[in-house]
Amino acid sequence: MAKYVYDFTEGNKDLKDLLGGKGANLAEMTNLGLPVPPGFTITSEACRHYLAEGAVPDGLEREVAEHLGAMEKRMGKTLGQADDPLLVSVRSGAKFSMPGMMETVLNIGLNDESVHGLAKQAGGNDRFAWDSYRRLIQMFGKTVLGIDGELFEHALESLKGHRQDTDLGAAELQGLVETFKGIVRDQTGKDFPADPREQMRLAVMAVFDSWNAPRAILYRRQERIPADLGTAVNIVAMVFGNVGNDSGTGVAFTRDPGSGQQGIYGDYLQNAQGEDVVAGIRNTIPLQELERLDKSSYDELLRIMETLENHYRDLCDIEFTIERGKLWMLQTRVGKRTAAAAFCIATQLVDQGLITLDEAVTRVTGDQLAQLMFPRFDSGAEKKKIAKGMNASPGAAVGKAVFSSARAVELAGQGEDVILVRRETNPDDLSGMIAARGILTSRGGKTSHAAVVARGMGKTCVCGAEELEVSIGERRFTAPGDIVVNEGDLISIDGTTGEIFLGEVPVVDSAVVEYFEGGEPGDDLVRAVDRIMRRADEVRRLGVRANADTPEDAARARRFGGEGIGLCRTEHMFLGERRQLVEDLVLASGDEERQAALDALEPLQKADFVGIFQAMEGQPVTVRLIDPPLHEFLPDLTDLSVKVATGDATDKDRKLLGAVKRLHEQNPMLGLRGVRLGLVIPGLFAMQVRAIAQAAKEVPGAKPEIMIPLVAAVQELEAVREEAAGILADLGVEALIGTMIETPRAALTAGQVAEAAQFFSFGTNDLTQMTWGFSRDDVEAAFFSRYLELGMFGVSPFETLDRDGVGRLVTIAVEEGRAARPDLKLGICGEHGGDPDSVHFCHQAGLDYVSCSPFRIPVARLEAGRAAFAECDSDTR
Ligand code: ADP
Ligand code: MG
Ligand code: MG
Repeated sequence: MAKYVYDFTEGNKDLKDLLGGKGANLAEMTNLGLPVPPGFTITSEACRHYLAEGAVPDGLEREVAEHLGAMEKRMGKTLGQADDPLLVSVRSGAKFSMPGMMETVLNIGLNDESVHGLAKQAGGNDRFAWDSYRRLIQMFGKTVLGIDGELFEHALESLKGHRQDTDLGAAELQGLVETFKGIVRDQTGKDFPADPREQMRLAVMAVFDSWNAPRAILYRRQERIPADLGTAVNIVAMVFGNVGNDSGTGVAFTRDPGSGQQGIYGDYLQNAQGEDVVAGIRNTIPLQELERLDKSSYDELLRIMETLENHYRDLCDIEFTIERGKLWMLQTRVGKRTAAAAFCIATQLVDQGLITLDEAVTRVTGDQLAQLMFPRFDSGAEKKKIAKGMNASPGAAVGKAVFSSARAVELAGQGEDVILVRRETNPDDLSGMIAARGILTSRGGKTSHAAVVARGMGKTCVCGAEELEVSIGERRFTAPGDIVVNEGDLISIDGTTGEIFLGEVPVVDSAVVEYFEGGEPGDDLVRAVDRIMRRADEVRRLGVRANADTPEDAARARRFGGEGIGLCRTEHMFLGERRQLVEDLVLASGDEERQAALDALEPLQKADFVGIFQAMEGQPVTVRLIDPPLHEFLPDLTDLSVKVATGDATDKDRKLLGAVKRLHEQNPMLGLRGVRLGLVIPGLFAMQVRAIAQAAKEVPGAKPEIMIPLVAAVQELEAVREEAAGILADLGVEALIGTMIETPRAALTAGQVAEAAQFFSFGTNDLTQMTWGFSRDDVEAAFFSRYLELGMFGVSPFETLDRDGVGRLVTIAVEEGRAARPDLKLGICGEHGGDPDSVHFCHQAGLDYVSCSPFRIPVARLEAGRAAFAECDSDTR
């Protein structure tokens, strides 16, 4: 038969699924012999049953009655007994901590009779008894009966006036109880339930129901906690911190959750109960001062904290209460901490012999490492916030506002820090983005051009700040409240929060990045990062490469521990002054003119590749042949039309307008791009392959790999592969030839495709786009926030690889590709390559490497190391 109730002596810390975190850890502490009040836990299974069926499961009430009976026997008093009442708390507690989301009711068992019994047992302490009673009605009214908590707060406030709650006397509190009872009667039409067992029964169901309260649902979505877990309920004998000044309640950490330093961190409040400490109703005192107030409780508390750290082998946070000099433990759990503390604590625990270095690797996350890599604003600094946009690429940037790429380059050249402000960016802004400290746009979402490029460069970016009116022509923007920022005015943007500030906010640099850039591990934090990264590198099976298109990026990628380039895009090599040549190519009226345009491009391309091969010093470089539609390199249709209409146009402009119109596509992402370009425009791919081969000949040890984008059928690949192989053979250069797998058809026919490919690289951006049928440039800003709200997915599939759909295509392609060609090399080069959860997926899918932007390389290295330990496969948060 199902068992729905566990006494604290029956549970343990590994039963969180069933007993919730609070219940499991209360049981663990009980079994460690720590002073925990007696109690028992109703399982989350009972809650799931209640939520599904609308009624508690058969047998639950009997089981609860039995456990309560046992508790009453042990305590020698019954729940709510008139002359000596046993009181209990009814506390929620789910598997994952959801701070403040769910409910707890204290002092259950009090009524008009037992309140006198409680006073008598406390040596005639009427004040304490009435204080407890008013708390019960207040919490019960709000939580169980659904009354607006403000009503009780107001009544309390107006009684208190300027005094503190401890200044209220017994008579006043007794009056308050009457007022509260009146509120209950007014609001519900019924009296406050006097029957203790009924109080308890209703409170248990209210805790069950709180699982589906709107704020709990919202919180779970944000934190990606599954919606169907349910919560356990803990029934705990009350102990009292509000009996007088020899009593109190507090919270503590076993070490500093901010820095990881060992020491005593906590707050204590005398003569108080429950939430009073955190609610800030009175000023708490630092835990150290408890030593002066109650030395023996203090010493015992420190001993217990040490016991808990050694037992959990981690930082713990605790909640405790002292009742007339006797210490009681009411909660513990492995505590949350900052990113810096996570690294420091993990290595300290290794030094203390509590955990192994391997465990230390599993105790930190890639997200935490990423946080440590961004410069940040000095938290103590004064700032004037003027607007907020999307936190597109983290970091803190300060500079003069500029409104064009050219101006950004110009001022940066004079040594100025600038922030490039645009409505939105396009590929032509690249030089300005490189020159700027940060990028701010008023339009576009987290996958807009600005956001993607900025993240790739590790550059701070706030995008889609819609409150801003950006006028490029007037070189200024306005913000709400008549704020005007002109070119040259200083602004500060926080890519971690999306905030925009007027003026200069002081920035602190990341010591961790300095270390990755080749600095010595100086302070404790950097030493901790260094140790953990070394171990992660030793154990990881996945290789880590970089997406890098320039020698500078390539060099940074190597410094950050990259083992090659997994994606070198070539399209930026057609921008800037070279647009001219692309225009010639598009306008070419015959083979000769086209070849002339290509011949002009070839030496430029070659020089680009030489630079990258040199920077990589013999590591493999996967070069992707040109991918985007050609019209992206031509002038804008509207601009051209205006020019032609106003008569300012040259002959070439008029021809270009014709070409732009001809090349216009309804769905460019599904149009003439990738391998299709190579097949339709003779000589284009051949020119690129020749440039790669010539460059490789010039740089000793260069290891080029040629990658064909957007292949859907093996026939496409065969055609361009044959030509490329011929060129390589002619020039006597060896290079792998492979393909991206980024169309669903390529994935589904991977066995065929592998016959013509020496490697696959999963282009998961396009693969996600085409698998979901999402036009990436449109959907994110248009409706992804709504989709997230509706719970259609917990996280954008462009951020974290969708294992069920896109992941399945990857798995099929891996299996069939390897079956056809056992030595097939497999990698991934979408943005997912630097996403923790996606890295774990790649490890499980058996890929050889992930490729990501240079700044994400350390994150990918760490997560690849963590993935090698099976136990943290699913937990990358
Ligand atoms: P939360 O999950 O929000 O932390 P808790 O169930 O821990 O809620 O309850 C909040 C506080 O109420 C506890 O920190 C503790 O101070 C107090 N409390 C809960 N149960 C008892 C009890 N049996 N005796 C005394 N205080 C209690
Ligand atoms: Mg608590
Ligand atoms: Mg692609």
